[in-house]
Amino acid sequence: MLSLEQAQSEILTRIRPAREIETVALDQAPGRFVAAELRALVDNPAFDNSAMDGYALNTADLAGHDYRLPLAGESSCGDMPGALRPGTAMRIFTGAPLPDGADTVVIQEDVKAEDGEVAFPKSVRPDQHIRRRGEDFRKSDLLYAPGRRLTAYDLALISSAGVSTIPVYKKARVLVVATGDELVAPGTPLKPGRIYESNRLATLVQLRQMNVTAVDGGTLRDDPDALRALLKSNADFDFIITSGGASVGDYDLVKQVFSEIGEINFWRVRIKPGKPVAFGRVGESTHFFALPGNPVSSLVTFKLFVEPALIAWHHGTPQPLELPAVTANGFRRRPGRTEFLRARLQTDEGKLTVIALRGQGSHMLGPLRETNAFIRVDADSSGFDLGDVVAVIPLTLDVS
Ligand code: AMP
Ligand code: MG
Repeated sequence: MLSLEQAQSEILTRIRPAREIETVALDQAPGRFVAAELRALVDNPAFDNSAMDGYALNTADLAGHDYRLPLAGESSCGDMPGALRPGTAMRIFTGAPLPDGADTVVIQEDVKAEDGEVAFPKSVRPDQHIRRRGEDFRKSDLLYAPGRRLTAYDLALISSAGVSTIPVYKKARVLVVATGDELVAPGTPLKPGRIYESNRLATLVQLRQMNVTAVDGGTLRDDPDALRALLKSNADFDFIITSGGASVGDYDLVKQVFSEIGEINFWRVRIKPGKPVAFGRVGESTHFFALPGNPVSSLVTFKLFVEPALIAWHHGTPQPLELPAVTANGFRRRPGRTEFLRARLQTDEGKLTVIALRGQGSHMLGPLRETNAFIRVDADSSGFDLGDVVAVIPLTLDVS
């Protein structure tokens, strides 16, 4: 059985990344992965300009005029001013071009302006409150290399560099199906022995949050023929994700069908929860994940395997964030598998603290109400005590 790290690196070596590229407008680009080098089309700032509202002048003029200069002209945003006349000061506003001949800006709070004359303090130095052309970035500077996933911040930069469209890798198309004779949709009556389905929904929602195209393939019976037919008729998907039927019980057909139709790259990983997880490929380019049926196992394996796989498929480099946090309670266990505990991460007097939630059974959804992180317990660890520092994987940080 593979370790977590072995399974994750197996995914990265086996993935067959996206080849198709499309070009999108900036407002369609958040969450997309850059497919070609993006370079600045202009210098930023594009011209020397003022960082404050005030007066532009040449410091060399001050001493000879007793630090009082007549006011001549104005530089406002959007227009180029004429040159500064020697021996005068020019009114200037934030972002407005610095006139030729000026070497500094004095903020309006520091001067006395009356009767067309401005009195300056003696402390004025050259180069005050000036944003120089190109000090942020220069025309043709590399902004982004292929594989970067774009955020709103990135788009602010790209837009300011004059770039209006971006080549990105096409979105992965992912088919999601649940398997299990016991599964019914909420909103319908629950017959004895049945349960309400939750994994398919959670998987679809997480995929959509990752900005991929997630298609609901419904729920399949525990019937090899149904799964076989589904796989054969959906070879155009980039990923197929099944839930359930992945352990070794009598009805656990997913492994059987996948190994018959495709190639299994790994099957079972030394983690808890989520041991019965499989990854492989059907045909040339359809990857599959068989995620376990237990709801928490399904969430954990999505985070550990599906997320990095999708990032790598879009040519990105998965860099999962882990934070050190001080535990607010202890947890004991037998070493063996790398374990992920649902946890609540918070800041207490400037310190990150984390609580391992009660009810860690992989069938228990109640603690998800409080969950905003997983605590990672290493395979050889027998747990932790209150006050120990543990590794925490943050989930949505804005749970309130
Ligand atoms: P399995 O992997 O099919 O052996 O299922 C393991 C456990 O997860 C069983 O208790 C199933 O009833 C439950 N389960 C399987 N699929 C789902 C699902 N889509 N939603 C919620 N629970 C599920
Ligand atoms: Mg099942």
